[in-house]
Amino acid sequence: MSPIGGSSRGWNAPDLRKRNRAAVLRLVHARGDIARNELAAELGLTKAAVSILVNELIAEGLVSEAGEQRGERRAGRKKIALRLRPDAGALLGVGVDSERTQLILSDLAGRPLAVRELPPPSEAFASSLAALARELLAAAGLGAGALLGAGVGVSGRVDELRGVSLREPRLWEGEQPLRAPLEEALGVCVSVDNNVRALALAELLLCEGRTSTGESLLFTKYGPGVGAAWTMGGRAWPGAHHRSGELGHTVVAQSGPACPYCGRVGCLESLVSARALGERLGLEGRPAHELCAVLRERDGRAYEELAERFAVALGNAIELYDPAAVVLYGPAFAEGTLFDEIARRIVANDRPCDVRRSRLDPALPALGGTALALERFFADGGAACAGGRLGL
Ligand SMILES: [Zn+2]
Repeated sequence: MSPIGGSSRGWNAPDLRKRNRAAVLRLVHARGDIARNELAAELGLTKAAVSILVNELIAEGLVSEAGEQRGERRAGRKKIALRLRPDAGALLGVGVDSERTQLILSDLAGRPLAVRELPPPSEAFASSLAALARELLAAAGLGAGALLGAGVGVSGRVDELRGVSLREPRLWEGEQPLRAPLEEALGVCVSVDNNVRALALAELLLCEGRTSTGESLLFTKYGPGVGAAWTMGGRAWPGAHHRSGELGHTVVAQSGPACPYCGRVGCLESLVSARALGERLGLEGRPAHELCAVLRERDGRAYEELAERFAVALGNAIELYDPAAVVLYGPAFAEGTLFDEIARRIVANDRPCDVRRSRLDPALPALGGTALALERFFADGGAACAGGRLGL
């Protein structure tokens, strides 16, 4: 271990330049329209320093001057709005769970250029993803060098620092290294994290609400299981043992089947997962949102009980985290009355917390991977890691 490390480490000039470029890129992205003097004021930098950084980013094609700033029609010097150029490069987002692998090639604003669906991953995951990435780039009319980074959101427990899936018995036995083989195959930096944490980051970075990227969210995904992520200061907290956000394995009932994943009786997932509902209704293999619709039709009382169990788990989590908002993600919350049933119960318990639907498209879970890649691109100050060597 290096004798100099952690928070005691100082900043040398290249570090500082990268950090300032990252701050400028993040703020330009978040606002979508900001002038140089506003950047200087918000970042605590001199106008001269901001001008140098912005001119660099314009010369590199990452930022453009978008003309007069919106709403500025007063006399005097015009303020020139700066914007991130979405066409400055492409990102590869990958979403992996027990039901599917999804790839999204997107621009730098996170807008999908091409989407591909695959079965859950197998042994040859890395090489098949590289081949597909080349296909997607070609289909979008882009060269291999356009790819600036990739991100993978995978279900189960993930060590995001090493880029390794620690535990996901539905996909593989034991640990599965993902970052190293994918970086080798793709030739760009690859960030790997738990899929729900990745989607929570996407909610912060890619949605209309991105102006409040520091907002603390309790982001909850339903289907096929239940997972959650808590965001603070613009990132999703992984926990001390990569186990943060296991909302699905908190206990909400005194009886029920033993959970095959945590072993407990009465955990939320053992009662509401697609597997549990499928067994109960004799409709194994169907997705959670379809099963919720069937349950509502066949047994209104059981449907209300399902909402109640979500509300109990979320209510406990609200007491622990005190988030600004609970964000519910997944097709089961996007349709039907489940969202309203849960929100009504949380509000009825007098908790000072907004409950809202995710603004992400639930059909595009790989956007979590896109957000991981975008965050890494910003953190690197807008440098294409490894220089886009795709096409080995
Ligand atoms: Zn469980």
